Amino acid sequence: MGQPATAEFDADLLPGEPGRTLLVAGKWTTAETTFDVLDPATLEVVGRAADAGESEARAAVEAAVAAYDGWRAEAAEARATRLRAAVDAIRAHAEGLARLLSVENGKPYAEAYGEILRGAAMLEWGVEEGRRAYGRITPSSANGRGLVLTSPVGPALLITPWNFPASMLLRKIGLSLAAGSPVVAKPAEQTPLVAVAVTRLINEQLPPGVLNVLTTSRPAEVVNAVMDDPRIRKVSFTGSTEVGLSLARRPGAVLRRVSLEMGGHSPAIVFPDADLHSTVDNLMFAKFPNAGQSCISVNRLFVHRSLVAELTGRLAERIAALRLGRGLTAGVTTGPLIDFAGLAKVERHVADAVAKGATVLVGGNRWTPDDPRLRGAFHEPTLLTDVHEGMEIASEETFGPVLPVYPFDDGEDVIARANDTTYGLAAYVFGADFNRLWDAMERLEFGVIGVNDAFPNRPELPFGGFKNSGQGREGGTEGIEDYVETKAIAIRR
Ligand code: NAD
Repeated sequence: MGQPATAEFDADLLPGEPGRTLLVAGKWTTAETTFDVLDPATLEVVGRAADAGESEARAAVEAAVAAYDGWRAEAAEARATRLRAAVDAIRAHAEGLARLLSVENGKPYAEAYGEILRGAAMLEWGVEEGRRAYGRITPSSANGRGLVLTSPVGPALLITPWNFPASMLLRKIGLSLAAGSPVVAKPAEQTPLVAVAVTRLINEQLPPGVLNVLTTSRPAEVVNAVMDDPRIRKVSFTGSTEVGLSLARRPGAVLRRVSLEMGGHSPAIVFPDADLHSTVDNLMFAKFPNAGQSCISVNRLFVHRSLVAELTGRLAERIAALRLGRGLTAGVTTGPLIDFAGLAKVERHVADAVAKGATVLVGGNRWTPDDPRLRGAFHEPTLLTDVHEGMEIASEETFGPVLPVYPFDDGEDVIARANDTTYGLAAYVFGADFNRLWDAMERLEFGVIGVNDAFPNRPELPFGGFKNSGQGREGGTEGIEDYVETKAIAIRR
């Protein structure tokens, strides 16, 4: 176990000495053992987290269950007032939180800062939606009136990934707490510290036990222990399709509500009348932030053949100008991949594509920096042309900074090609002809669609996928529905 090597983030954001990262019943504690948290750019140890196991998981469940009656009994406005104070605190600490996020995840500081602000906006949206969890009164029938009441779904387990460790957690916490359900949060083992820092700010506004946090390097053990308890009424998971499906299919004594936000394989389609200037800007944003490690990152770029040469030329120039390095270094636009397993997958996809005839226009290799401190898993931002559907990259999520280009011709059904995947999270279309864009919006089998827009993930829009990308929605007016139960009340008079 190493000592923190950097002091680049404000240690006061964390609740005490290294390793004190478990929140149970309102108290920050530690476990018998701790695990190291690494800077993925340098592989240096930057902190330590408590390694929760089954007993800590059971204690967190008890705390959440014990807090449930009191929390659901608070007026929705009272809950919202507490949580609005938490939103303000997160905004007030945005810079420090962003530095911590950048160090722990590797993304450039500006992206990390954007994530913290987006997470605060998502928390705020969820908080307000809790005040709008309306029921209704039905018109009279022969024997009386009917009421539809909403009630909280009950104590919830929230499982979040490392790629957006702050915003994913804040979005789920906002919806669950605002609707009246206490939380057991289980952040990803690669990025526990920023999760601890934001939950610390939220917890300061809450009664003990309403929010509990389990950091662990043994996610299956902890998640199983929590899910074994039937009093946990809801699981919301963001992460890989493989783990998400295993949670959804897990046998148990009682059926519970499970929301899943999983992998993606996003197509972007550039029609012949697209404005190339803004399309290039949008594609850079839809592909390269977070080194391509985003569930809504473009994985398949379909370009009308008439535009391929011009568009790839412009993209190549922009991609070549990206600067790899550590997220807190000024001017760096692209950080490392989270680990060497992620890098191996990117290398496998590029090697397979090249072996099957793809051309590398920019990048194509693992990046070997001059700075010996940068020992992380870096890959050059890469543009591939002459790509076809027989390549691995055409059917698997790459989760790295590689943009493969597939030409399409007049009269070809490019929407059908875009839909030809087991995933269905995000899709993008670029063009001007209204009828063609409308047809794409109607026919694309994806939960989130950007039309000339690389930023479809907004608090006020429902976010979630079709097919193996998930079930349920977060955000929009739909988001709260996953956190309330409906009761039908029949009244005879
Ligand atoms: P992952 O599934 O390995 O981890 C996600 C979470 O699940 C982490 O908290 C992890 O600790 C936990 N986990 C891991 N194994 C587990 C197990 N056996 N039982 C219970 N919990 C377990 O995913 P990852 O590789 O860290 O994240 C990348 C994936 O997440 C990508 O596929 C990406 O597309 C997806 N993602 C989806 C969204 C979305 O909103 N749809 C957002 C971000 C990331």
